[in-house]
Amino acid sequence: MRTNRPDKCLDDYDLVIIGGGCSGLSLATAICELAKTPEHVPQTLIIEPRSYYTDDRSWCFWGRKSGMDSKLIVKSWPAWEFSSNSVRHRHRSETDWGYHYVPSIRFYDHAEKILALHPKMTLLTDSCAISISPAASGIEVEVKNGISRTNTKIQKIAARQVVDTRIPDEVDFSRAALKQVFLGFEVKTHKAHQFDDVALVMKDMRVDRMGFLFDYVLPLGRDSFLIELTRFAPEYMPPESLRDGALELVRRVCGDNNYKIIRQESGVIPMGMRDFVKSADPRWIQTGIGVGSARPSTGYAFKRIQQWADQCAKGILFEGQARPFPPDSALLTWMDNIFLRAIRENPSLAPTLFMSLARGVHPDCLLRFLTDIPSKRDLSVIMRSLPKLPLIQSALGEISAGIQSMRGMQAW
Ligand SMILES: Cc1cc2nc3c(=O)[nH]c(=O)nc-3n(C[C@H](O)[C@H](O)[C@H](O)COP(=O)(O)OP(=O)(O)OC[C@H]3O[C@@H](n4cnc5c(N)ncnc54)[C@H](O)[C@@H]3O)c2cc1C
Repeated sequence: MRTNRPDKCLDDYDLVIIGGGCSGLSLATAICELAKTPEHVPQTLIIEPRSYYTDDRSWCFWGRKSGMDSKLIVKSWPAWEFSSNSVRHRHRSETDWGYHYVPSIRFYDHAEKILALHPKMTLLTDSCAISISPAASGIEVEVKNGISRTNTKIQKIAARQVVDTRIPDEVDFSRAALKQVFLGFEVKTHKAHQFDDVALVMKDMRVDRMGFLFDYVLPLGRDSFLIELTRFAPEYMPPESLRDGALELVRRVCGDNNYKIIRQESGVIPMGMRDFVKSADPRWIQTGIGVGSARPSTGYAFKRIQQWADQCAKGILFEGQARPFPPDSALLTWMDNIFLRAIRENPSLAPTLFMSLARGVHPDCLLRFLTDIPSKRDLSVIMRSLPKLPLIQSALGEISAGIQSMRGMQAW
């Protein structure tokens, strides 16, 4: 068993957080930061299979530079660009919004430091939860310790509340409307590059026989980039299938023999989940990427997770009850679903849709839409900017799918 508190061996906790990833650590640090005093922090155990953290992902998001984020952000871009077929639309906010980059290792290190300052927080690494059994007296969590070794040990822990950030068994990512599949590299160039200080968030949007794809190119410094190839795929595909294309992209951006790969990252993010999980027991909250923390139409999740973590920590500290991930508004969900259905059914439409938004919508209006806070007026501007016929067809498809699923439920 590896823990940040080797002297402590409790088997009774106010709160057990399953998974010390983005959601789990965000919640734990939010509790520490919002607690009035260290004693106010609930006795908490975070269970994480990893033995140690690595820089396994880059978290980028639009927003103001504020609060916890500002300590973690290592790079911000004042402008961002969408392009397709050599046409480019560069956006810049009229307010103080930027596109920000948080390397995951900075986030993990920061979280570990905060937890170390709070004696009531225990991070148990190299361990995983293997079963959860709610009972009248509390929730029993079975934990396997030392999973990287041969002599594993099973331990039973009692919790008053559990926040579970694993992907629930009943959630099937392959049923998501689209899968955002990506693979890329952080690279250092031997010579300084000539790129502007602009985040190329959807560069060279295009379609090939496998569907819609685009490049993601972030100039991190004068001699470094994050470069990723991204696809919105209707069916699951392994990120490794993008390796050759991503390497070719790196050569295009940096020039042959002018770069060194520092690290690699890849992933599959579900866009438009069809499986909805509702916790049967209010003391056992399920959250994270498997339960809707990624915005359906974009796959962005980091900022949404921070906002949820703040709310959930307040619920735990001031009401004694963890809060689940909040659903998006019905209208936003509806628009996202129509958008995803249109791209799924006709991938060649995707560059036109994104370029119409970039061309026809004011950057601040688009930012509000992308970050889940659009006004009704913003939504109407967004709708008016998009090509009508394909979206009407997609909306009709959504209505018909809704009717069919209601019929299915009635028959059942
Ligand atoms: C490479 C990559 C880049 C991304 N970039 C962005 C980005 O730029 N912007 C953005 O908004 N979003 C991004 N995302 C999406 C999203 O923000 C991340 O996936 C985020 O980590 C999701 O948080 P989470 O808590 O749901 O999952 P995770 O961070 O994966 O945390 C889940 C944790 O549960 C643990 N776990 C699993 N099984 C068990 C078990 N049995 N017991 C205990 N613990 C368990 C895992 O080890 C893990 O630590 C990216 C995702 C990836 C993969």
